Amino acid sequence: MQTPDLAQMDISAELIRRFDRSGPRYTSYPTADRFQPGYPAANYRAHLQARASAAAAPPLSVYVHLPFCESLCYFCACNKIITQDHGKAAGYLDVLFAEMNLVGALLGSHRRAVQLHLGGGTPTFLSAEELAALMVHLRRHFEFTADAELGIEIDPRTVGAATLAMLAGLGFNRTSFGVQDFNPDVQKAVNRIQPFEMVQGALLAARANGFRSINTDLIYGLPKQTLATFSHTLDQLIGLSPDRIALYNYAHLPERFKAQRLIHAEDLPSAETRLQIFLMSLQRLQEAGYVYIGLDHFAKPDDELNRARLDHSLHRNFQGYTTRAECDLIGFGISAIGKIGNAYIQNQHIRKPWAEAVLQGELPVSKGVDLSAEDVMRRETIMAIMCGVPIDFDAFQTRHGVDFEAHFSPELAQLAPHAGAGLLQLGGRRLTMPEKGRLFARASAMAFDQYLGQPRTATYSKLI
Ligand code: SF4
Repeated sequence: MQTPDLAQMDISAELIRRFDRSGPRYTSYPTADRFQPGYPAANYRAHLQARASAAAAPPLSVYVHLPFCESLCYFCACNKIITQDHGKAAGYLDVLFAEMNLVGALLGSHRRAVQLHLGGGTPTFLSAEELAALMVHLRRHFEFTADAELGIEIDPRTVGAATLAMLAGLGFNRTSFGVQDFNPDVQKAVNRIQPFEMVQGALLAARANGFRSINTDLIYGLPKQTLATFSHTLDQLIGLSPDRIALYNYAHLPERFKAQRLIHAEDLPSAETRLQIFLMSLQRLQEAGYVYIGLDHFAKPDDELNRARLDHSLHRNFQGYTTRAECDLIGFGISAIGKIGNAYIQNQHIRKPWAEAVLQGELPVSKGVDLSAEDVMRRETIMAIMCGVPIDFDAFQTRHGVDFEAHFSPELAQLAPHAGAGLLQLGGRRLTMPEKGRLFARASAMAFDQYLGQPRTATYSKLI
């Protein structure tokens, strides 16, 4: 098959080969792999107390990590616990509620929350009664606004129409379905069997129950995938007409993620096939009416994510792209990440130390970072580039007392090839991102990441 003509974004295979680099996804800056081990729980407590005693505070976004899954998907890189014993969730919830009591006692009167996300693992591993109890507990500590986004990740294998009705009854109005690929051979190779009709039933039930902005995740680069099989998966998914589509690139890192050792490397598509799959997907999704939002996200033109992209109010946080302005984020459960003002905090990754800390009345912190003034300026710049938001140098100077061009002159010099290829524009004391540059936003943002040159533990993925 020929390389598709991507006239709409003027993207070619050559451009991708030239500018696609491995890099962080920038859901935070500094990125989570730069958080300092041993960050004191006392710092997190002090940040919560400072927020509580402030005259005003930003609204809250809440994340709850529910790690249980019934079976292992071989591509998985999440922090999960595989078990068929649903009784295990009860003990985890007890600790989660104790953690909410601990944090809740430090929140003061600023409890207004505009976003909730239940992620995992598989949140629907929990029974209806357990999910109801979780929502009661959350509502005890947080005041969710009438227009709050209440989201939950759904594994289509674990829900029927009745589950979607139950979730809507609990107030959930957003959902994200893990689809990955509809091809039976691919599903078998990654140990995740979910026929098209199963996903279709779950998605239709979500829509019938009033869920808005239904997202679906696809992964390309999985074993047994070919251009032809993925083309058929795209046909099927486009037929279901989800509001948003995330198209993730599978990073095969078996030395880091044990589950991936069960994938046969010889079944993986070649680098060239992956590139062709990506280009075809980009073209097909655009032809089907989806708009490229950024990184690996697409949305329908009337979706609020696209409206935010157009009026430059798009933001990025640990849940990905969002329309919600700057929030403080409170994370609960193992490995959950929070953000209060200019600090990031991450919980213990392993269940035992997390539970022991909570049951001793301590905040279960394992890592974190307090941002310097330099970090704050770089975070603002990186997030603007990732969201396609123009950077006005005069406004930047007013906010930070720093001349953008003088301060970042080495970074701007480093970006000259990007500007030369039309991936960003500099002029009129502004940095802007043309359509063509949005696909390479991560590579442009990396110029402002001060930590990239330092030794690191994480392995970064490429766009393709
Ligand atoms: S991909 Fe999702 S459902 Fe599969 S093992 Fe990982 S967390 Fe569980």
